[in-house]
Amino acid sequence: MQEKITVTKSSMPPYEEYIEKIKPLWDSKWLTNMGINHQELEKALSRYLGVPYLSLMVNGHLSLEMAIQAMNFPEGSEVITTPFTFISTTHAIVRNHLKPVFCDIKLEDYTIDEKKLEGLITEKTVAIVPVHVYGNICNVEEIEKIAFKYNLKVIYDAAHAFGETYKGKGIANFGDASTFSFHATKVYNTIEGGAVAFSDGKLYERLYNLKNFGIRGEELVVDIGANAKMNEFSAIMGLCNLEYVDTNITCRKSKALQYIEQLGEDDRVEIQKFENEDITYNYGYLPIRFLQEGVRDKVYAHLRENNIYARKYFYPLTSDAACFKNKYIHLSLECARMISCNVLVLPLYPELEDEMITKICSLIKETLE
Ligand SMILES: *Cc1c(COP(=O)(O)O)cnc(C)c1O
Repeated sequence: MQEKITVTKSSMPPYEEYIEKIKPLWDSKWLTNMGINHQELEKALSRYLGVPYLSLMVNGHLSLEMAIQAMNFPEGSEVITTPFTFISTTHAIVRNHLKPVFCDIKLEDYTIDEKKLEGLITEKTVAIVPVHVYGNICNVEEIEKIAFKYNLKVIYDAAHAFGETYKGKGIANFGDASTFSFHATKVYNTIEGGAVAFSDGKLYERLYNLKNFGIRGEELVVDIGANAKMNEFSAIMGLCNLEYVDTNITCRKSKALQYIEQLGEDDRVEIQKFENEDITYNYGYLPIRFLQEGVRDKVYAHLRENNIYARKYFYPLTSDAACFKNKYIHLSLECARMISCNVLVLPLYPELEDEMITKICSLIKETLE
């Protein structure tokens, strides 16, 4: 049996490079608490992402949770969001004692349907939390207009959009804040890690307090913060991986194009084509949608029989998770539900072999016959 093929593979720098960079930690014994590597990575990432401010965090989830917390919304306020995302997005809203209001998504790119936003706004609405799902960029212009009109904050879950630009601008320049995940499974990783990126400098101080217990001096605690600091080993992983992220993205692109070449013309499927010319993509995910009901699960099973582990991102919808089901009222999520039942994310990473892509495509076609 061939080796197990997973949906992604963590990128790692050459072993010696990482070892060389962590060596000094045995002398300094400075392992966390905003060490020099933490400082260096914050600067390097804000430069790479082209955004004025960036606060490193221990993971992507707490980045989003704290970005929302930093806005000081009154308890019980409503936040409009997408149900077609990783569960973390909805958890971050609910754990802040806010109420998620689920909005449907668009068939074209699976992002929140901006045309349905206004219908969901009430006097309790305080924010919109859209997701650049699979690296597809939300309609940031329309969302900004609506947010301005109703005085709402916009916090983007940009976990899938690391390094992407829209009309030449770093993606984190849209909205009041954007949050990234540097989890081992993402395009760019710090083992575990994440960041909040933003343009309003005041947010930096507030996030610093939230991630470090609100401690501002040996005897001074100014805010009720938690602990979400990134450690030095992770920061060094991030500095090393940053050197290779562009090469990895180029390589991912060539793999994605091979899938598209083999499945792009098949009218039984809709494969992600990365066609929006305003976006520079990071090729983090390769979703394929089956147009006939019930086929997705058959393909999923057939691939598994061949030791290939595609993933049903994102099924079920977060609004249907056992912990949220029937708790929040929402309008029809017809599109989101249909997509969630028919989509499959295929293996995509720089080392994925061309023969494996051909094999995956023929296994898919076999199931479709
Ligand atoms: C990965 C991910 C997160 C959470 O990030 P972690 O670093 O795993 O905590 C949040 N939202 C989305 C859309 C994600 O894909």
